[in-house]
Amino acid sequence: MNPTHGPLQGKVAIVTGAASGIGREIAHELARGGAAVAIADLNAEGAQAVAADIQAAGGRALGLAMDVTDEAAVNAGVARVADHFGGLDILVSNAGIQIVNPIEEFSYADWKRMLAIHLDGAFLTTRAALPHMYGAGGGTVIYMGSVHSHLASPLKSAYVTAKHGLLGLSRALAKEGGKRGVRSHVVCPGFVRTPLVDRQIPEQARELGISEEEVVSRVMLGNTVDGEFTTLQDVARTVRFLAEFPTAALTGQSIVVSHGWHMQ
Ligand code: NAD
Repeated sequence: MNPTHGPLQGKVAIVTGAASGIGREIAHELARGGAAVAIADLNAEGAQAVAADIQAAGGRALGLAMDVTDEAAVNAGVARVADHFGGLDILVSNAGIQIVNPIEEFSYADWKRMLAIHLDGAFLTTRAALPHMYGAGGGTVIYMGSVHSHLASPLKSAYVTAKHGLLGLSRALAKEGGKRGVRSHVVCPGFVRTPLVDRQIPEQARELGISEEEVVSRVMLGNTVDGEFTTLQDVARTVRFLAEFPTAALTGQSIVVSHGWHMQ
């Protein structure tokens, strides 16, 4: 797709946590659809590198350093994006981390960090983006949930709590934003091979007392219909579909992209 003629031509998107993994693929996919894309990440160098790749492919992109848990940094970053590209139509709140531990060993600091990145980050970026969307008559907010927005797994109490919480924020936004043209969704992937998941394999093997192969085949893929990881493209294409969808027939939804692991 030529980025200068795609269906998202004229739209401006910000993707958080887009220096790596799922966010990076979403940034590329939205750019292929014609959107101007801001890559916002703690990792400033990584964000710049993704922006440079998009520009090299003929797209419009801006890399910026942004910690989604820092209120002032989020407000300044979102304002800069809107100023640079002349508006903001699409927010993909994707930045996230994983910390696995049994509840009785989960440190309060880790718990707070998990909720801060996943939930405070989603709230702060949404709050900063909304005035631009309302001012322009609408927009789309997409939160990166997980199958763990619907199911629980051992060792992931903070992650499961945060990912469930995103459903609430998204549904509240769908109600509040409906009359002002803002739609909201949670995309819920199964396991995707990214640095976030690669780090979990040895950790879970140790905690659960099984081999790394068993973590992959039983814990991660055992309930899929085809034994396949969800791919970066599976997730990015879903986000793009939702960003392009033209009416509020689809809003407040959670879309599970998991090779049949979870069916709702
Ligand atoms: P990743 O580790 O590859 O990328 C995460 C990115 O977020 C990194 O670039 C990191 O620098 C950035 N980040 C971390 N903390 C940040 C902060 N405070 N502010 C700004 N940026 C920050 O991980 P990923 O697998 O691509 O995960 C992306 C999202 O997808 C997360 O929300 C994750 O929970 C979700 N998810 C991942 C999977 C999976 O299997 N990989 C499955 C379901 C959902």
